[in-house]
Amino acid sequence: MTQKHTENTNGTLVSLRDLSVTYKTRLGDVSAVDGVSFDIRRGEILGLVGESGCGKSTMGRALMRMISPPGYISSGQIVFDGEDVMTYDEQRLRDFRGRRVSMIFQDPMTSLNPVQRIDQHVVEAIQVHEAETSLHKALERAKALAERLGIRAERLNNYPHQLSGGMRQRVMISLGLVLSAELVVADEATTSLDVIVEANLLDQLRELRDELGVSILMITHNIALVAELADRIAVMYAGHMAEIGSVYEVFDEPLHPYTQGLLRSVPNIRLDDDEELYKMPGEPPNLTHPPSGCRFHPRCPHAMAVCSREQPPLLDTGGGHLVQCWLYAKHQMPADAPEREVSR
Ligand code: SF4
Repeated sequence: MTQKHTENTNGTLVSLRDLSVTYKTRLGDVSAVDGVSFDIRRGEILGLVGESGCGKSTMGRALMRMISPPGYISSGQIVFDGEDVMTYDEQRLRDFRGRRVSMIFQDPMTSLNPVQRIDQHVVEAIQVHEAETSLHKALERAKALAERLGIRAERLNNYPHQLSGGMRQRVMISLGLVLSAELVVADEATTSLDVIVEANLLDQLRELRDELGVSILMITHNIALVAELADRIAVMYAGHMAEIGSVYEVFDEPLHPYTQGLLRSVPNIRLDDDEELYKMPGEPPNLTHPPSGCRFHPRCPHAMAVCSREQPPLLDTGGGHLVQCWLYAKHQMPADAPEREVSR
């Protein structure tokens, strides 16, 4: 039986606590996500950003328990609407993934069956989870949702290859929402689209959130997109959570040195006219042998001796603006830790 958690209140839909994902490789274990915690609130758009390989897509998959071997969830807790998802059996998981959480991938062609018409995809998605729904009723729902997403009814008779990239992505969204999922995980869902189609699609996602109250986890490397669309932003670095806060907090007053560098390296965000684009020193680490302590310390301009020894705690600096950095947790430093900055 599923364990019910009592702490699920105040609008939190998902709580991830100390979640770690490990991949077994020939070169050793890769710690792709290491002790990450964050919440997704009901009806919010949370942007999850970071460089390629930082673990953000792994995080999205882990949330749905979709990590395939050689990867596995090595520790942590996933609580969805008060229920412990880690205790679900296969049947319960299938139901969870269709009815309550859905995922929109970057390339719809890998998710859509090329020899199935669009209406067949949508009807199948409904009937797999709702065997009692008649074909007629399923088709009616498919049409209503398609129309809502700007897909003309006759397009439902098309095969995936007959649609444009933007239209295919709309189909993926309709597949995600046809069972009234409460959370949509959009993993680089608009990356392959041109900017005008992307803007239209993002507007529609925002409208769907406003109308249906659905929560959206938007996983992207495009921080400008998050500035445009999200309510809150979570910044990951090398499998760790660096910072979480409202878009206003994080863009106006980024706390973590990685977030500060990230924002200074993107055009048109927090950039005065005469300020040059910043180039972050160094490279993201190899996660087979990640740096000890704070994984950002080899690249951090403010690194202290303690940073390479101990991982900093995730600290709430007030109002839910969280940061994982020793600069803000000096009172929690080990007693023998000198605070001097390491010259670089
Ligand atoms: Fe830099 Fe240390 Fe903060 Fe890590 S913990 S970001 S190395 S100051």
